[in-house]
Amino acid sequence: MTSSEFRVPGESRLSGEFGVSGEFQVQGIGVSEIAREFGTPLYLYDAEVLRSTYQELRDLLHPAVDIFLSLKANPNISVCGYLGSLGAGAEVSSLVELHTARQAGIRPEDTIFLGPGKNTAELEELVGAGLHAIVVESLEELRIIDELAVERGVSDLPVILRINPDFHTKGSGLAMGGKPRQFGIDVEILRQNQRFLKGLRRVQLTGLHAYMGTRFLKHTDIVHNTEQILETADQLSDDLGIPLGTVDFGGGFGIAYFDNETDLDVRALAAGINDAVAKFHDKHPDTRLINELGRYLTAMAGTYVTKVLYVKESMGEQFVVADGGTNHHMAAVGVGSFVKRNFPIRSLTRYTDEAETVCTLTGPLCTPNDVIGKKVRLPRVEPGDLIGVERSGAYGPSASPGLFLSHGFPAEVMVHEGKAHLVRRRDVVDDLLGKQHLIDF
Ligand SMILES: *Cc1c(COP(=O)(O)O)cnc(C)c1O
Repeated sequence: MTSSEFRVPGESRLSGEFGVSGEFQVQGIGVSEIAREFGTPLYLYDAEVLRSTYQELRDLLHPAVDIFLSLKANPNISVCGYLGSLGAGAEVSSLVELHTARQAGIRPEDTIFLGPGKNTAELEELVGAGLHAIVVESLEELRIIDELAVERGVSDLPVILRINPDFHTKGSGLAMGGKPRQFGIDVEILRQNQRFLKGLRRVQLTGLHAYMGTRFLKHTDIVHNTEQILETADQLSDDLGIPLGTVDFGGGFGIAYFDNETDLDVRALAAGINDAVAKFHDKHPDTRLINELGRYLTAMAGTYVTKVLYVKESMGEQFVVADGGTNHHMAAVGVGSFVKRNFPIRSLTRYTDEAETVCTLTGPLCTPNDVIGKKVRLPRVEPGDLIGVERSGAYGPSASPGLFLSHGFPAEVMVHEGKAHLVRRRDVVDDLLGKQHLIDF
């Protein structure tokens, strides 16, 4: 059998493949070898999948659109650095994310900083950081930034207003605009505060930003949002006299995780976005358009790899207990979904179409909630087998309670050009305990 026969239809962008041994491989390296070298549990990234995902979208999208990586989805410096080397800019929301992007080689001119709760330390650094723009989410924040710029003698500080548009949006797994939210500034409030906007001294308003939410799986919904955002930007810029140096129209491109979901039709999506962009671009040829994406750029490239420790039965139910669980992969629990559904889960060491085992896959935590999958269909499972949660390159460790039960965070490994690199070492005892102080009782 050739490895290609093992590929599952419709999953051509899936990280890695199954080799003749029935073992999951990434760029020809067997997962057992990687597990031996770096230990488990670990997150395994395939740089080739990062590249092809980015490049496909880059090739499809209108050249006026810049693609920015939202570090929130995966803040690993090598993930960021690799996408940056391919041309991605960075959308960051904390000083550590800002420094990550900087050290990863993404230029400040290709970096934006956003977030509804920027603190004083952050604002003070941002005012002098030379970023493409600070994305401001409230009038009060705008006032403080203007004041800081005056104090620091900074002039023409580029600021983009994040708007909370009032058009209707549908199809998001988690809506972040178009309803009462802590994000952005209502369009109506901007209209009521034109004098304040005109009176800014050192801040230069350079554009508009809108992000409607995450996990959109219908291209028509994203195209609709893009059209509406570009239209709103065009109108608001006229009404309020805000120049359109930049319009960031968000993104929220989803990835199918569950049985009842289908992946985005990225060609149809890009075609729809390009129509809207072309129309806007004719009228505003000098506007930098930004499409900021986290999940879409990183999810497919990552697999969460755990090792089976125990297989046991309890009252007729089969349990597979692995060395990692929700402490590293909270997203697999399906936060915000009412029906418990599973991420794609596979045995990485025994690939066969036959499902011999139907089990509950759990981790090491002492809570019944540490369940990665229910009614998971796997081939024969034995201690020592490696189990993979696929499509897990986004919202993995950084969105998980890694300190729960003090297991710490897992290793992260990236396979790049046929070689496996450790891109984050696993937490050791001192990483966790070293920060604590025992009072002398
Ligand atoms: C979370 C977030 C993103 C990234 O969202 P994805 O759905 O992962 O692409 C982008 N922009 C903003 C403002 C966000 O809050």
